[in-house]
Amino acid sequence: MHEGRLLAPAEYDGKQLGPHFDSLSKPRQEFNAPGGMMIDLFDLPYIARLPRPGALWHMAKIAIRFARDKKKLGRGSRLTMGTALMGRLYRSVLDAGADLYADAQVEQLLVEGGRVTGVVATIGGKETQVLASKGVILAAGGFSANEQMRKEYIPFAEQHVSILPYENTGDGIKAATASGAVMGADNHANAVWAVVSKRKRDDGYVERYAHLIDMSKPGCIAVGDDGKRFGNEASVHFVEDMHLTGNVPSWIISNAKNVKKYGLGLSLPGGGNTKKLVTSGYLKTGKTLAELAAQIGVDAAGLEATAAKVNADAATGKDSAFGKGDTLIDQEIGDPNHAPNPCFGPVGDGPYYAVQIFPGDGSTTVGVKIDSQCRVKGEDGKPIPGLWAAGLDANSIWQGKSPAHGCNVGPALVTGFIAGRSVAG
Ligand SMILES: Cc1cc2nc3c(=O)[nH]c(=O)nc-3n(C[C@H](O)[C@H](O)[C@H](O)COP(=O)(O)OP(=O)(O)OC[C@H]3O[C@@H](n4cnc5c(N)ncnc54)[C@H](O)[C@@H]3O)c2cc1C
Repeated sequence: MHEGRLLAPAEYDGKQLGPHFDSLSKPRQEFNAPGGMMIDLFDLPYIARLPRPGALWHMAKIAIRFARDKKKLGRGSRLTMGTALMGRLYRSVLDAGADLYADAQVEQLLVEGGRVTGVVATIGGKETQVLASKGVILAAGGFSANEQMRKEYIPFAEQHVSILPYENTGDGIKAATASGAVMGADNHANAVWAVVSKRKRDDGYVERYAHLIDMSKPGCIAVGDDGKRFGNEASVHFVEDMHLTGNVPSWIISNAKNVKKYGLGLSLPGGGNTKKLVTSGYLKTGKTLAELAAQIGVDAAGLEATAAKVNADAATGKDSAFGKGDTLIDQEIGDPNHAPNPCFGPVGDGPYYAVQIFPGDGSTTVGVKIDSQCRVKGEDGKPIPGLWAAGLDANSIWQGKSPAHGCNVGPALVTGFIAGRSVAG
């Protein structure tokens, strides 16, 4: 099997959560349609084919359901991607009869006689001790939003942009290390790198977009200030090229025809919001490559030479400079209808668009050391009694060398499952 994703949640109907649906986090705006209508990766080929009849019918059904839900429930009930997964897990937790605390911030672990016996948390603004009869499982999602830890573990920390929630501030890891846990070492990388762009909304919130879909497509190139490419834009390891060459930040460029077909960052396939994004300064545009280069402060001659080389190579389907589209992993998010190379095509004629890109992450990977039962290890290598870790709080099983796109949720689910069984004894 050479296509699709490693793990893709099925759609979930949020109405299955009954009155609890309100407390499920809202989907991230930057990965969905305007207004909060959730779209799925599986919808993208339909969007790209709009307004053809089959595609129009598919999207119309989704939009009509969203409009009805929005009126009745205040949000769409067709949950996709991570929100679908969280919705279904939430249902399982409710069915299992677990006690859930909303608005709860765990501050530290309670330790008695070397054993972790609970946590101190601020719940609804009030400091509360929550005692654990069997143990505590840390799963606070790593440290992507912790400035200090980023400086310690991540290259180009000042320019680094994570797509993870702003709440993932390393609290689980800090609590564990304060109780004697040891951080993983010798990882290939301390995060799953992602190429990220950002845009400040009118309300001050900074949207962050991970460039998985657009950069693997034909006609999209990434260049540094000299206008030259410096890596394979479809590679899962492209951020390493940014780090190694110092092209931080840099630019991705695509022509209008390709932007409309495949999207470019926050500009979705179809091109509906392109004008708005140009006005807000997120997208830069130029009728010619020289005009675009002047807009983004890139060497015009370098950019023109780069585009000429890509255009010439595209005729053969072989990226002689960086091998874009050579591997099946590259092709996973290419355009299957583009032959002979699903990821590589001409930059083509103007007008052109550009988005500034930064090295970022879609998960941190360095966390506390655990054993095969997900028990947190102390300095002596033995488990700290009463303490488990799962997800990004535990050191990654990949040790930062992710085998493909999106390899974090799987280990998070597995470590959560193992830790839960181990705690239950
Ligand atoms: C937009 C986006 C797309 C992604 N796509 C993919 C993908 O396709 N495939 C993939 O494998 N991975 C993907 N990821 C990464 C994936 O979501 C994470 O790796 C995964 O959710 C980590 O699971 P976790 O349980 O460790 O942390 P999380 O799912 O982040 O959960 C941690 C929870 O702990 C809470 N928390 C933090 N501190 C405290 C505290 N002190 N007290 C109480 N609660 C606290 C947080 O608010 C959060 O709810 C994506 C991430 C994002 C943002």
